[in-house]
Amino acid sequence: MGFDYNSLLMASGAAGIALCFTLMSSWLRERGSTFLLTWALCIAIIIAAIVAFSVFHSTVNVLHSMLAGVLLTTAFAISYGGFTQFSTGRFASGPVVVLAVVSAAPIIVSGAFGFDGLSFVFINAMSALLLGFCGYQYWTARAESPGPITAIAALHWMLTLSYVFCVIVVAAETPLYLDGRVPDNWAEALNLMVSVIALTGIGGLFVTVHQERISRRHRDASLIDPLTGLNNRRALFERFPDGLVPQGAGLIVFDLDDFKGLNDRHGHAFGDTVLRSFARMVEENCRAEDMAVRLGGEEFVLVLPQSSATHALALAERIRSIMGRMIHTMDNQPVICTVSAGVAMAEKPGLSLDTLIRKADNALYLSKRSGRNRVSQTASSAA
Ligand code: GH3
Ligand code: MG
Ligand code: MG
Repeated sequence: MGFDYNSLLMASGAAGIALCFTLMSSWLRERGSTFLLTWALCIAIIIAAIVAFSVFHSTVNVLHSMLAGVLLTTAFAISYGGFTQFSTGRFASGPVVVLAVVSAAPIIVSGAFGFDGLSFVFINAMSALLLGFCGYQYWTARAESPGPITAIAALHWMLTLSYVFCVIVVAAETPLYLDGRVPDNWAEALNLMVSVIALTGIGGLFVTVHQERISRRHRDASLIDPLTGLNNRRALFERFPDGLVPQGAGLIVFDLDDFKGLNDRHGHAFGDTVLRSFARMVEENCRAEDMAVRLGGEEFVLVLPQSSATHALALAERIRSIMGRMIHTMDNQPVICTVSAGVAMAEKPGLSLDTLIRKADNALYLSKRSGRNRVSQTASSAA
């Protein structure tokens, strides 16, 4: 093959150490992402396995190969835990222990009975099974970052295949006993080369997936109003990138009545709870395809992508009515806060979002002027 076993072992060890540091430094910047630490732990255990394999290479002592094998399969079992942490936020300790014990048992039992060749076959077979399983898990979770996660699965399967080759070659050459010889064949060399590629590749891809997750989180946060959890103005305008609303869409503008007075009488914090309650209630009353937005202050917008004037008016009226009956409590005293609304429909194609909001605002102004706590749709609001 042109590469000697020990140089390849050292190369995979060096790749592992570099990767361990990369994962730990990524974790230092984002400490909530503990799966990075789990992955770093896996790599650290793999490095320990590499050292044990290297010792075994010079001693051909079955104890050393057993230790190396158990370390390796334990690292792969923990890497499944890293996957569960990454996808669900929880380390699945039960399944990890089961996987680690089930994969270590045949390695230890066969080694303890002196079948060092068979123990080696089990090391490779269990590694192949665990890596194939982990690869499959990543494959099923690829929707989050399709490119990098598919590549992570593919690298797991590449490693799986190289371990399968090791099983076949070792089983064919030395089924039960190594007879004082270390397995040193093309499959072992290929396995180590693939390990160097897979370790660095998977590590780099983990960091990429993590970075993508952070930027997605920041992007999502930039589109959400922190007080109510509703979409913000920016999200509303991003929903219609060309600035045009489809024909048939309805838009309702809500504005809480005398909110300044409510703040003055009961305090800003109480005002915040009223804003939150209103937001929850609007969400509960709209369909999945509708978009509830906090435009700013005590003004909200509800976009109904496909609606009729009758439906939009009825929905605005329902929300107004529920708000008028909702009792907020301050110092054991009931407090009522009403809301006014204005409705506009996009009855023509090519209408801009700005225009539709302005039309709904005109209707809202009418509701305010007519005494508040009502819903209006002016003639001019029908666009
Ligand atoms: P109107 O019935 O005409 O709409 O009167 P209003 O008092 O509701 O309207 P105005 O525009 O005079 O006052 C809006 C108030 O909303 C003033 C502002 O302090 C309050 N406000 C804006 N944002 C927040 C917020 O995030 N929390 C709280 N508690 N109050 C807010
Ligand atoms: Mg206002
Ligand atoms: Mg108001």
